Amino acid sequence: MLRVHRAAILLVCLPAAAAIAPATPASAQEPPPIVAGRASPPGTYGAIDVLHYDLDIALPDPGGKRIEGLATLRLRPTRPGVGAAVLDFTGLEVTGVTVDGDSVDDAYADGRLSVPLPAGAAPTDTFVVAVHYQGVPDDGLLLEKNLHGDPAVFADNWPNRARFWFPSVDDPSDKATLSFTVHAPAAWVVVANGEEVGEPLPEAAGSGHGPRRVWRWRLDEPVSSYNMVFGAGDMVEIPLGTAACGRAPASPRSDGCVAVSAWLFPEDTVQAHRTFLEAPEMVDYYAGLIGPYPFEKLAHVQSATRFGGMENASAIFYTDQGLASGRNLEGTVAHETAHQWFGDWVTEADWPELWLSEGFATYFGHLFFEHVDGEKRLRELMEEDRQEYLESDATNRPVIDRDQHELFALLNANSYQKGGWVLHMLRGILGDDVFFRGIRRYYERFGGGNATSGDLRSAMEEVSGKDLEWFFHQWLEEPGYPVLATEWSYDAGAGTVNVTVTQTQNADWPTFRLPLEVEVVTASGTSERHAAELRGRVEHLSFPVAAAPKAVVLDPDGWVLKGDPAR
Ligand SMILES: [Zn+2]
Repeated sequence: MLRVHRAAILLVCLPAAAAIAPATPASAQEPPPIVAGRASPPGTYGAIDVLHYDLDIALPDPGGKRIEGLATLRLRPTRPGVGAAVLDFTGLEVTGVTVDGDSVDDAYADGRLSVPLPAGAAPTDTFVVAVHYQGVPDDGLLLEKNLHGDPAVFADNWPNRARFWFPSVDDPSDKATLSFTVHAPAAWVVVANGEEVGEPLPEAAGSGHGPRRVWRWRLDEPVSSYNMVFGAGDMVEIPLGTAACGRAPASPRSDGCVAVSAWLFPEDTVQAHRTFLEAPEMVDYYAGLIGPYPFEKLAHVQSATRFGGMENASAIFYTDQGLASGRNLEGTVAHETAHQWFGDWVTEADWPELWLSEGFATYFGHLFFEHVDGEKRLRELMEEDRQEYLESDATNRPVIDRDQHELFALLNANSYQKGGWVLHMLRGILGDDVFFRGIRRYYERFGGGNATSGDLRSAMEEVSGKDLEWFFHQWLEEPGYPVLATEWSYDAGAGTVNVTVTQTQNADWPTFRLPLEVEVVTASGTSERHAAELRGRVEHLSFPVAAAPKAVVLDPDGWVLKGDPAR
């Protein structure tokens, strides 16, 4: 996703988290309650594996807030002895639970719905758990007026706010397929993940509601709960073209392409349209660079997300104001499109590895503009990211920050800008051919599932034949960045330039191992480049030169994230 101003995130986030905070602490025997926006304690998840969610949601008439839901989950225990399927769910009234059609006595407290499974349930058994519920969601499913004052409904789940509107394993580690049946006011349209199933069917006015239409959507590829969304309201669907032809195995179309479209409020179609002009080309580019496009279609949806853009699988949601303003948001479109590959299809195994989603989307978003506008544009974007990282308050913490349990706080310059730089540096060390082969191997191996930084490292080590432990450790597990001070002198007798590089960064930060190029520029304007590797706090380098040098430049092409030397 792309962040909006942090203060705005916190303002909307905190009341939601507080809304389900327990009145009293849980007893020592009980697991602590789980709060949306916070990481769950280790061991919370993993006992069950949800394979499929079938969500039947009846929306109120326009302007109403109360929903009725039937969530039918197909799931299995992952080990013997699992007595209950414990689901994240909060704020709504549960009116009935069945397992394989039989009513059961559930336990519902502190943000958890515990559904008993038959005694002796084995990992080879699958169960169908159906939960009937109703009420007004506290968060997650936003039943609000849009910027034009028109009622609309949009899901907005990141990081773990799906629990406010359907019972789920609300964690990125459990990916599942999905189907939606949405009963919406007759005048509205509904867009969701995946492929629309048939035409919307009219539904007569019933008890307490006006005429509706029933929309069905289906996503046949597993995704995490934070990706599972639909939007409903008065929207216009604008076809933008097709893409990834022959590189879209999930496409339902006979031509093997995915349809790319924009779903916009009628008032904003003209202003918003231009932002999406290159949207199909982005899909083509990533499908060629990384691997097949994973989903059935790609919809770009004007919505009520609290983020600048939210990468929901095959249905990207954008903040309504941004598109209505007419600003060109192509950078956001590229970022969210890249997320379809990284974040949505290859998903970080746990929240501290968020850079596997956001760092990738940041860097691959930029790569589209390198592709279109050239290398200089990439360098400009990396320089902007470098400055934002250096000026951030994240530099004293590592990218993989296992001590940070507030999930919104992970939306920081480590996960985004430094994460993107980690990929850029890896590309610089390995070269384009090896780097992108490693990326493709990682994508192919972990697509549809979860991955860790160690998995990425393994893929890169396999294709390069190099040990990269030091690289991943210093850039992801340690804080900070190098600051390099350079002094040089010319030894005319020996015909060498002698260069001393001192790492002057904060003493608490590591001494970085830095393979980089050193450019020696002579008075006549010629230059020569030499490969070097810095390892100590002070390194002495020596290079042959034909004439007196005029300048010595470290890392002339900007492949290394570093601070500005003190002047
Ligand atoms: Zn993102």
